[in-house]
Amino acid sequence: LVNDRGVLAPTIFAEMSALAGRTNSINLGQGAPDTDPPAEILQAAHAAIDAGINQYPPGQGNPELLRAVSAHQKRFYDLDVDPEAEVLVTTGATEGIAASILALASPGDEVVIFEPFYDEYPACIEMAGAVRRTVPLSTPDFSFDPEVLAAAFSEKTVAVIINNPHNPTGKVFTPAELQLIVDAANRAGAWIISDEVYEHLLFDGRIHTPVATLPGARNRTITISSAGKTFSVTGWKIGWLHAPAEARAAIQAIKQFLTYVSGAPFQPAVARALDFPQRIFDAERDSLSARRDLLTRVLRDDIGLEVYEPQAGYFVNADVGAVTSDDALTFCRALPELCGVVAVPVIALCTPGSAQYESMRTLVRFAFCKQVPVLEQAAARLQKLR
Ligand code: PMP
Ligand code: GLN
Repeated sequence: LVNDRGVLAPTIFAEMSALAGRTNSINLGQGAPDTDPPAEILQAAHAAIDAGINQYPPGQGNPELLRAVSAHQKRFYDLDVDPEAEVLVTTGATEGIAASILALASPGDEVVIFEPFYDEYPACIEMAGAVRRTVPLSTPDFSFDPEVLAAAFSEKTVAVIINNPHNPTGKVFTPAELQLIVDAANRAGAWIISDEVYEHLLFDGRIHTPVATLPGARNRTITISSAGKTFSVTGWKIGWLHAPAEARAAIQAIKQFLTYVSGAPFQPAVARALDFPQRIFDAERDSLSARRDLLTRVLRDDIGLEVYEPQAGYFVNADVGAVTSDDALTFCRALPELCGVVAVPVIALCTPGSAQYESMRTLVRFAFCKQVPVLEQAAARLQKLR
């Protein structure tokens, strides 16, 4: 499993962050904000540490956070979630994803994912001994062919993984697209694992639709999210999921042997944050949206690249085919030397040799979750590409 090209090779995010460190480049690779989290969430964490909340919390999670997740789903999406039976706190969304896949998939089972994918999905499918079936998301709008989706399901399918909003493309799935996936899952009797970590970072007035709110979805959906993106605390690693009680219990059975529990003092702080007034959520999103505009303008208007403007999230994708004949991986490995900037090749999130890999050969993902002066400095450096 672990080799240079295998799915358990070092992740592209670690490779590119190390490259940024070695070359002292501006890191627009990994999706890690360099901005301060809201002051209120920091104060709540300090207060929790001072109050002595520093030992193992309950395995399912701090009851305050379980209740806050339930209240958050009700407040934003009118979803009724039982905090005791249906919610689990995890060590980031990362653990929620891993534990869900390991709980559901056995050797020989199949899991449907969209391509390009967040690299954890194929890695965990492989760890479970299962097989992935991929559905391409095609430029310019990263839509999928409903017939290809239908054909990806078989009697061996145990789950489909949705990432909405989507990393790396910045796509927001429409309710109609989500319903196609729900219907396919229902026909196959498959679970839906829905990774919604960018749920509060939709731009231009778009509204997030959790797949669990759609007809026929609730009883087969595991909804996963985390505090990292919403509150710019990616290093805290506090995530959560909610799922029908039996699935939650099975996933917790896996979680107990992965991490046992998750960061004690951060849990009450995140509980507080989930109850923040709307203006704090809006301010985080609006600030990010302005930085999306900045980087999009630079890549499109200054450098002349074809840019796929994201509808949500941390990343904008640009086709570097106009400025290089290399593939995006070679290009990204050379970019620090060329201009002191690091970015991520989308082909690192595709299956090598697939048609999708070929079609995304020159697509590069740039993170804009950085301070404006940092983005401006990166913009100045990127002018060398012209
Ligand atoms: N899912 C997606 C799509 C992501 O981009 C990330 C990256 N941060 C994660 C999951 C992991 O989230 P966390 O940091 O909360 O583990
Ligand atoms: N989610 C982040 C990204 O896509 C990185 C997380 C990680 O390093 N695994 O850049």
